Order: sequence, then structure tokens, then C-alpha cells
Amino acid sequence: MNSRFVSTAIPYVNASPHLGFALELLLADVQARQAKLNGQPVYFLTGSDDNSLKNALAAEAAGLSTQAFVDQHAAQFAALTPLLNLSCTDFIATSRDARHAPAVERLWRACAANGDIYSDEYQGLYCVGCEAFLDPSELTAEQLCPDHLKAPEPVAERNYFFRLSRYQAQLQRWLSDGTLNIKPSKRRNEVLSFLQNPLRDLSISRSRERARGWGIEVPDDPSQVVYVWFDALANYISALGYAQESEPGEALTQFWHQATQIQHVIGKGVLRFHAVYWPAILHSAGLRLPTDLLVHGYITLDGQKISKSLGNTISPAEAAAYFGVEALRYYLLRHVGSVEDGNFALDRFEEVYNTELANQLGNLVNRVCALGIRHQLTPNTLPLTQQPDFPALAATVGPTLLTQVDDAITAWQPHRALAQIWQGVDAANRFISQHEPWVLAKAGHTEQLEQVLNALYQALHYIGQALGPLLPETSAKIAAALSNRTQAPSPLFPKRSEPL
Ligand SMILES: [Zn+2]
Repeated sequence: MNSRFVSTAIPYVNASPHLGFALELLLADVQARQAKLNGQPVYFLTGSDDNSLKNALAAEAAGLSTQAFVDQHAAQFAALTPLLNLSCTDFIATSRDARHAPAVERLWRACAANGDIYSDEYQGLYCVGCEAFLDPSELTAEQLCPDHLKAPEPVAERNYFFRLSRYQAQLQRWLSDGTLNIKPSKRRNEVLSFLQNPLRDLSISRSRERARGWGIEVPDDPSQVVYVWFDALANYISALGYAQESEPGEALTQFWHQATQIQHVIGKGVLRFHAVYWPAILHSAGLRLPTDLLVHGYITLDGQKISKSLGNTISPAEAAAYFGVEALRYYLLRHVGSVEDGNFALDRFEEVYNTELANQLGNLVNRVCALGIRHQLTPNTLPLTQQPDFPALAATVGPTLLTQVDDAITAWQPHRALAQIWQGVDAANRFISQHEPWVLAKAGHTEQLEQVLNALYQALHYIGQALGPLLPETSAKIAAALSNRTQAPSPLFPKRSEPL
């Protein structure tokens, strides 16, 4: 069955959403929309990671019950779907959704039945920020977590362990033979080099006390709570109904076991959880592995890491309010960076909006449609590729553009997809300057004028179509403008001297 599963990681809901997660949602949305436009049934899942200690501690600090606190923030994450015009199929909140806890339990029991879960004494250094034990070799010279710059907490208790060490050779093979693809390839190499050291078994439970009583109970042991990552990773299959039936249900069959692609879009910080722990857990439970991990970088704001402690956070709603959601999608996907780390700066955003969106694309659509209406053109009569006069334009903005854009998205390079489309936009703008349709009109060269305008309508048709997975609303507006014979469109991106 030619179907696709696309997910984001589920973020901790200890705070409001920030721009980095908006980027992740947008990147996943491009993959999901590409699938849909190519006629592939797609399941696009996002959600909230409710059951972490981090959330429980943040709730304590806020003086709220953990459930009330988590619900409040999860609602803000769910609200990103309409805000960012996302094509999500589903949203799973792991503390509240009835599909989730039984799925975690089933997954646990499946790993246990395979002999991969055992109980042992454990001593280690736990960073609550990371929600992970850190190896002493990972700490800074001051013995701090390198990401959170806080001293991890020494923990000694009896926990359950997952026999991760058993899967070392298999993990290396899956990454080398393409069973599990990681893009970009440097991220795959990072995991492979991590796998050169012996893997240690993974602690997958916490005492109920240390977890502040928050989380999913370990099957048959109420004194323990399931480790939040074992719990959170299961969201990908709990949403598909893993818990509900002894035989795989319809969604799990169509969008997991028989899917053409299972894509997890994730930030670089959670790579190890998805590339090492998750495949091993799935394999232990007799389940299929994902096919692709698509890894993105972090966003800095005016050159600084975005963090609450620095007080330089920007909400997705604030960012979208400046120039609209489509402009935000464009700026983040093309310029801030989809794969590498990138910087968000308002003055640069404004410049990109005015030059690339308002001038280059917006004006192009307006000029062409206005001319077409003024001269009563009957457009789209002759395909661009059959117009021998304009081979250069046809080569840049013909059907090949659609293939190039599709390939770039598949290759996890949405910035390249947009760059290709803008080459087409540039070519169309140059074509207008070269052929000066307004001069042809004045001189009464009607036939030539028709040819030029027809070529431009065709070019815009392909540009609009190519934008479909990336800027869906702009794509729809271009299609509407091209088919409207009586009224020129209102500007796609009205020029602004200041942000909204
Ligand atoms: Zn940490």
C-alpha cells in the first residue's frame, strides 16, 4: 500500500511553544503535503509529551496540578495546527488520550516477553532538562550538563532496564544498509560513531516517588513509573491504535506496517532517542522500524540561542503576526534553515518579505494577471513546452520544475526546493523585461502579445503548482488568480514599510 506516516517529535509541555517547534511542524507539514499532492494517503501526527518529570516540576513551580498545567500548555501546541495552516491528521496528548497508556503497557509487555526487560540497582547522574541519565564523560569540566549547564542529580534506585546492548550490531547494520535512513547524512554518521562504543542497557523506569507520582505505571509494578522517553516514543504507534486490538488495526496496518515511508521529523537534540532507543524497542516488540529520520537544526534569535532564561523567546503566533503565516513559512523554510542551524532576525525577515515575496513573486502574479485581463487573453491554450520561441523559460519553469521541487523535498532540502522555484520566478521576471508585453500591446502586435502572455500564464501555473507543499495558500491563490478572467487579484504580499 502506497501510504506515508509523518510525525513531529512530541514536545514537553512545560512551557509555551517556541519558534523552533514551529519550524519542526512546518518541515513535517511539507512532507505530509507532498505525499497528499502526489496522491499518497498520509497520516500526519503531532502531539504533546505530557508525562515528564520536567512538566511535573514546572507545574509545582506554577502552583497548579500537573494535569491542569499540562492541559493548558498542550492546548497551545494543538492551536498551532490552525495557526500555521498545518495539514495534521491527528494530535495525541499522552496524559489524556485514551489510546496512549494501554499502548505503552502493550509495548512494555511485548519487550518483556522477548526477554529484554529486567530489574536492577542503578546509580547514575540524571539531568531533568534532558530527561536522561548522563555519562560522566559527557559532562563539562565543571561537571555540568553541557546543554543545560546544570549539575545533574545523583540517583540510586532499583529500576527496570531495557537490554539495549543486545541490539548494537543490528543498529549498526540498519543504519549502514539503509533500513533506517537518517538525513542529512552527517547526522547518520554521528549515530554510527556513537555506536562504536559499547551500548549500555537503558533504564526505562523511575520510582513513583522520584517521578512525583506523575506518569504511566509500569505493568505489574505500581511502585515504578515508565521512563518518559519509553512512554513518549510509543506515541507514534499508540495514535495508530497499537493498544486496541490483538491483531494490528487498520491504521496501524496501513500507516505503519505497510506504509511506503515512516518519517519522523526531529530536532538534532533528540536524535539518539530516535535512532538508537526507538528502533531497538520496536524490534524487540516485533514491530517494524521507521524508514526515515529527518533531522533539523536549531533556530537562534538575532544570533543567540533561544531560551527562556535569556528572555529572548518569540512565539510562533508573534512571528506569524509580522507578515502572515505564508511569509513565515517561506522565511523559515528557505532562509532560517531547515537542516542546519539558522538565525531568525526581524530585519532580515522584512527584507526577504519585501524583495522575494512582494516584489519578485507578488508583483509578477499581479502584472501578468492584470495584462491577461486587460487584453482579454484566453490563457493556457498552448502548453509552454510547445512554444518554440521560449525554450529558456520552458526549461526553467516547465514540468521539470515540479520534478526538481519534488526531488528536493524528498532529499530533505526544502530550502533548495524554494530556491528552484525562485529561479523560475526570476526567469519569468526576466522574460517580461525582455519581451515587454506592454510595448507589444501599444504597437498592436496582438498575436505576439498573446504568445508572451500565454507563456507567462503557463510559467505561473507551474510556479503555483510547485509551491503546493511549501506555501499552500499562495499556491491556491495563484491558481485562483490564473483562472479569474474578470478581476485582477489583490496583491499576494502587500508591500510593507513596517511589520504588521
Ligand atoms: Zn541536560
